[in-house]
Amino acid sequence: MSDETRFVYDVAHAVDPLGDLEQEADKATKHNRAKVGSARPSSLLYTYGPGAIMDLPQFTIMPTGLDDWDRIWRRRESAPPQIHAPRLRDVVRMMLRSPDVQLRPYPWQPKKYSRSAEGNDLGVPSRVFPQWLRCTGCDMLGLLAQFDYRNTHPFRTDLAVFEHAKCTGRAGSGTRKAMRRTAIPARYLLACVDGHLDEFPYDLWVHRGQRCSKAELPALKMVDRTAGKGASAVIHCASCDMRRPMNEAQGEAGREKLPQCRGRHPHLDAFEPKGCRNETRLMLVGASNLWFPATQSIIVMPESQEEKASDLADRVRTALGDKLAKYRHNLEMIRDLLDDRVDVTAMPDHDLEQVLQAASAPTDSPEEQEEKLRDWDPVDLLVPEWRYLLRDIVGTRVEDPKSGLTLSTRDRGDALQPEITRVLAVERLRKVNALVGFTRIDDMDRVGDLPRRLAPLTRTSRPNWTVATEDRGEGIFLQLDENAVAAWEKHVLDTDLWELHRKAHERNFRRRFSETADQVHPDTRLKPPRYWLVHTLAHILIRELALTCGYSAASLSERLYAWPATEGRDPAAGLLICTTASDSDGTLGGLVQLSEPTRLQQVVGSALRKAARCSSDPICSKRTPQDPEDFLHGAACHCCVMASETSCERANRFLDRRFLLDLPGSDLGFFQTHE
Ligand SMILES: [Zn+2]
Ligand SMILES: [Zn+2]
Ligand SMILES: [Zn+2]
Ligand SMILES: [Zn+2]
Ligand SMILES: [Zn+2]
Repeated sequence: MSDETRFVYDVAHAVDPLGDLEQEADKATKHNRAKVGSARPSSLLYTYGPGAIMDLPQFTIMPTGLDDWDRIWRRRESAPPQIHAPRLRDVVRMMLRSPDVQLRPYPWQPKKYSRSAEGNDLGVPSRVFPQWLRCTGCDMLGLLAQFDYRNTHPFRTDLAVFEHAKCTGRAGSGTRKAMRRTAIPARYLLACVDGHLDEFPYDLWVHRGQRCSKAELPALKMVDRTAGKGASAVIHCASCDMRRPMNEAQGEAGREKLPQCRGRHPHLDAFEPKGCRNETRLMLVGASNLWFPATQSIIVMPESQEEKASDLADRVRTALGDKLAKYRHNLEMIRDLLDDRVDVTAMPDHDLEQVLQAASAPTDSPEEQEEKLRDWDPVDLLVPEWRYLLRDIVGTRVEDPKSGLTLSTRDRGDALQPEITRVLAVERLRKVNALVGFTRIDDMDRVGDLPRRLAPLTRTSRPNWTVATEDRGEGIFLQLDENAVAAWEKHVLDTDLWELHRKAHERNFRRRFSETADQVHPDTRLKPPRYWLVHTLAHILIRELALTCGYSAASLSERLYAWPATEGRDPAAGLLICTTASDSDGTLGGLVQLSEPTRLQQVVGSALRKAARCSSDPICSKRTPQDPEDFLHGAACHCCVMASETSCERANRFLDRRFLLDLPGSDLGFFQTHE
C-alpha cells in the first residue's frame, strides 16, 4: 500500500502550532501563544498519547499523529535524540511493519528555571477536539470558527479559552447586553471498534438526517440544565424550531439511530479511503474507554557481543540510508558521512568493512515480517530478562555500566516462605516503554491478534520512529520454587475452579474478538495458573510495600515472569516489583532496603496474612464466574488485591486469592501456612 492511498488527507491543513504562531506574529495582529498546557512524559505515553483526548481547564485537545511531530523535530539542526534499547526497538519494528523505526523521547527539554526559554521550540502538537463548542452564556452550539480564541498570558496556559464574543445570553434572562462568554466542548462523540473517532453530527441529528428546512447554516443550541454533564442535553435548532434530546442516542436502542462510521482518524486528520463498515457508538469526552495505549516495554539488560554488533550495523544502516550502497567500498567517505552520528573513528578498516557488510544485509520482506508477527509471543520480550536474573552472581553484586543494571544477592531469611527460592535486590534499573498504537472501546492484550483494531500513530505506512519513555528505578526480584509451582499447576489444571475460569475466558474472548476467535483458540490466550498465582502475589506485595516503604502503590509496578516450559524455553515463575521515575534517578533505596532478609520476611508474611481475609468476604472469597458472566478474576476485588491502572500490567485480570492461599471452602493455595 503506498502512502498516497493509505489515508485521505489534505496536506494544506497540516497541524503546525509553532509555524502558525510565527505567521501570526508576522502579521502582528493579536498574538496568541502556542502552548496550551503540559503533562509528564509518562502520562503522555499512558494517558494522553496521539489520538487521546486531554482535558484542559477550558477546552479539550487531541495530540496529533507522529507525522506532525516531525515538524517540531525538524526545527532543530541536530538529529532528534534516540533512546537506546535495541531489543525493544526490534519488536516495535516488527509490530509497526517498518524496519527503520527508532525510539525517540517526547519533544521536551527540562528548563533550568521555571521561566527560562530552553525547550520552548519543543512540544507535542495537538488540535482542539472535539471542535463543536457550546456557549455557557446562551447555549449556542457551533464550530470552532464561530468562537474567539484567547491565549495571551505568558505563564498561565490554564487561562487559554474560547469565547462567544458577542453573547447576549439566554432569552428571558433579563440582561441582553452583548458580552464575552466562555465556550466549553460539546462532549458527545462517535467511535467504532476499529479505533475511528468522529464528531457527533448535531446538525443531522436534530433534523433527523435531513437538512434544515429554514436555513443553510442553522442556528443550533445545546440546552443542558445539568452543567455540561450531558445527561439531559437537548439539541434545538433555533432556525426551524426542531428539537431532539441526546439521550435518544444512548444505549442499545440509540445505536440504531446513529450513522455508520466514516472511518475518521482525527489525530491523523485523515479518513480511511474506503470508509468503514462498522456501526458507531455514542461516547462522551472523558470516558475511560476512549483511548487505550498499546505499549511494549523492557528492562534494559547488558548486551551480548552479538547484540552489540548487530546494533552497530543497524545504526550505520539507518544513519547512511541510501548512501550506504553508493559508498559501500569507499571507507574514507563512509567515515566522513558517519562523523558525529556513529563513532567509528577508532575502528580499523577491516572491522568497519564487516560492519558495512552486516549493515547491507537485506531487511525482512513484508511476507517475512508478517510471519514473524504471527509467530511472535509477548513472552519473548521477557525471556532474556528472566535468564539474566537467574544467572549466578560472582561475589554479591554485579553492575553493568552501560545498561546501569545493578543486582545484589540477598540471603533468604529463615522465616521466609520456603516456596520463595531466590531474592535479588535490583539496585538500579532502566525501563524503556514504547508506544506502538492505540485502541478504542476495548483494550487489546495482544497486538498480533487483530492488527486492524490497532489505530496507527502515523499516516505513513513505514514510520521511522515512535515515541518512547525511559524510566530509572529500583526493584525487588523474587523467584518461586519451580518444582513446587509445576506440581501445583498440574493439580490446579484439573480442578473445577480452573475449568470455570477457563470457560469465562472463552466467553470473554469470543465476545470481544469474535472474528479472531474463529482462527485462534481462546485457550491459547488464557494465562496459565502460575500466571494467576504470580500475579496475585505481585499485587499483595505491592499493597504491603506501599504501606511499609512510603511509596504510593501507584508508583510501584509489576513485571511478571510466569510461563510453563515449552520447547526451547525454560519455565519461569517469578516477579519483579519496581519503582520508576522518569525525571530523576528514581533510586530512593527504600525498596532495596526492604529486600533485606528480616524486612522481606515481614513484608511477605504480613502480605499473605492480610490476603487470607477481605472485608467483602465471603462474597469475595467465593467469587467464581458462572455462565453468562465473563469476568477474568476470582477471589479478588478492590478491597483486597486489585491495584491501580498504573501498577497493573493486566487491568486487574487473572487474579484469584484462592491460588495463593487456602481460603474457607477452597484448598488450592500454593503457599502453605507455617505458623
Ligand atoms: Zn453565547
Ligand atoms: Zn433547523
Ligand atoms: Zn470505523
Ligand atoms: Zn476482596
Ligand atoms: Zn497486575
